[in-house]
Order: sequence, then structure tokens, then C-alpha cells
Amino acid sequence: MIDPWGSVTVDYEKLIEQFGIKPFADFIEEIEIPHHLMARGIIFGQRDYGRILKSMIEGKPFAVVSGMMPSGKMHIGHKMIVDQLIWYQKKGANIYIPIADMEAYSARSVDFETSKELAVSEYITNYIALGLDLEKKNISTYLQSENKTVGDLAYTLAKKVTFNEMKAIYGFHGSTNIAHLYVPLIQVADILHPQLEECGGPKPSVVPVGPDQDPHIRLTRDIAERFKSKFKFIPPSSTYHRFITGLTGDKMSSSKPNTAIFLSDSPEIAEKKIKSAKTGGRDSLDEQRKLGGIPEVCTVYELVLYHLEPSPKKLTELYKSCKSGNIMCGECKKNVAEMIKDFLNDFAKKREKSKDIAQKILEREPKC
Ligand code: SF4
Repeated sequence: MIDPWGSVTVDYEKLIEQFGIKPFADFIEEIEIPHHLMARGIIFGQRDYGRILKSMIEGKPFAVVSGMMPSGKMHIGHKMIVDQLIWYQKKGANIYIPIADMEAYSARSVDFETSKELAVSEYITNYIALGLDLEKKNISTYLQSENKTVGDLAYTLAKKVTFNEMKAIYGFHGSTNIAHLYVPLIQVADILHPQLEECGGPKPSVVPVGPDQDPHIRLTRDIAERFKSKFKFIPPSSTYHRFITGLTGDKMSSSKPNTAIFLSDSPEIAEKKIKSAKTGGRDSLDEQRKLGGIPEVCTVYELVLYHLEPSPKKLTELYKSCKSGNIMCGECKKNVAEMIKDFLNDFAKKREKSKDIAQKILEREPKC
């Protein structure tokens, strides 16, 4: 059977089974113009997404919370979160983007000034250039260290969380520094604070994450229950997306430049990376003509699937051409290199235009 949305390397079905995450596909029919990441099964799981869907359909308030960790350069894998935020912005969500400078300080020893500088020059600038309107009224981008509402809430919530619980979830031990130990509570408060009375009161909220973040989501939902009578929190919903595979076939990582296309890569560098990327091609051209390629294990196809081809029709054509042996990897890589070069050329111009706006975003008062 042809499955143009297929991708591999992580057994996501198993993840669904193990952690009790429900399939996102359960809702796809009901969503008006789903994002292509949803339609293509890249967003594969959810918890309590029905609440979010209901709010979208009824035009009621809901929040989306998605933090950014200012460490290193943004690569194309990070674009996935921004794409989702853009979609939710169009659906009328209140969006909260905490900048995890406290986490960067406690877990990675990045000082606060550096975090702020990196957040503005790299992350915020890129978010705007990718199309997210950070100047809109219903969006709040803030540094964790500067948001008093979040800090106060974290302290209140910490009262009902024990060290043993944190140890079990995050693997903390006797020599973990106290700042690091405390920072997950800040993140819990990042997620729950949009539901405080001063921020408009309880409302459905959703956190789009990778499956590795699920323990954190479960903790947040538990804490929301523990404080239900005080704050009337609605446990946050979540969605789970697959990770794009690195171009070498390993995990895409900022610390391994050959695995990733960075948003700041020159078109020439990106082209080189595509040309040496791991594909699902056969050992010889003859074999590939006879048996076809294997797009399901091809990192080049994955780039197209996740980021480069909005048209389902064209994506299916590429999938079929590959499967039937009508296109060889050399030609295919050349086409995809052109696509990524176009994207990066256009993006570089948008980045230039976004720089001035980015400088002003953190000067705005956090909404709550
Ligand atoms: Fe990947 Fe394209 Fe080769 Fe198919 S033809 S395996 S999609 S590079």
C-alpha cells in the first residue's frame, strides 16, 4: 500500500502504547484545514485535544504554550514548532512563548545576558522571519527570569511537589544544583499561568512537544489536579510530533552540523549537505530502476515531507516516482537542493527585515 506520509526510525506506535498517548488521527476529520504536519501524521499523538478542538470550533479562548531554549543555532527541525504556532495564531489562540533563560542558566551554565542576546538575535528573529506575528495582542514572549507572575506561581506550586518525585522523573541526584532542581517548576508555571484569574482565568491550553517531553507534561497535568480547588486549572492538553531525522541518518542536532540544515546556512552549504545526505536509494542505478527507492528511510524525502512541499499532490508524485524507480537519487537530490536554496534565499531576506522588530519584542510587558 502506498503511504506517502510514512517516516521511520522511532517506533511511535509503541510510544503511544507505553505512555497512554492517544492518536492524533482521532481528530483529524473534525479539524478545519488541518496543518500539513497534522494531515501527514507528523503530529501523531495527543492528550485531551478534544478540548482544544471544541474551543476552536466554538470560537472560545484557548492558550498555546511553547517555550524556546536559547542555546545554539536554530535548525530546520526547530521550524516545526514555529509552523504550529503560526497555524494556532490563525485559529485565534492566545500564544505564550517563554524563553527558558532560567533553564539555560541552571542546566547549561549560560548566563542570563547571553541567553537574552541569543533569544533576540537568533530565535525571536527567526520566529518572525518564519511568519509568526510576535507583535500581535494575543501573544506573549517573555524571559522566564523576568516574569514575576510565573515565578510566584512556580513557588506556590512547588509546595506540593517532593524531591523524590523530581528525582524519579528527571533523574536528579544528590549533587544536582538546586537551581536545576527548581527549574521544572518554572516550566510547569509557564504552562499553567495563562489560566490564572489575572490572565483571563481557566481555559483549555495545549503544549505541542516531542514525545521526550511527555514526563514533563504528565507532571504538569498532575500538579494542575493538585491545585484544582485553588486555581480551577484545566489540565493542559498536549500534542506530540515526530522528530525529523538528521541528514546523516542520526538524530538532527545543533551540535552536529552535518546532521542539520541551519536556518542561517548559506544556500551553498545547504546544497552540499543535501548532496551528501543519507537516502533510501539502492546500491546501483540498475537495482533502483528495478526495485525503486525507499522514501520511508530517506532523509531527503523527509525534508520534503516535513518542510518543503506543501502540495499533497506533488508530494505523492515524488513518493510514487521514487517507489517505482522512475527517479534516481542524484536527480532527486538536485531538485530538493534547489527547493532548500529557494527557501533559504527567501528566508535570509525575511530575517534581515525581522531584526529591528525582534529587538523590541522583549521590551513589551509580559501579558501576565
Ligand atoms: Fe530519497 Fe529521492 Fe532517492 Fe527516493 S529518489 S530514495 S526520495 S533521494
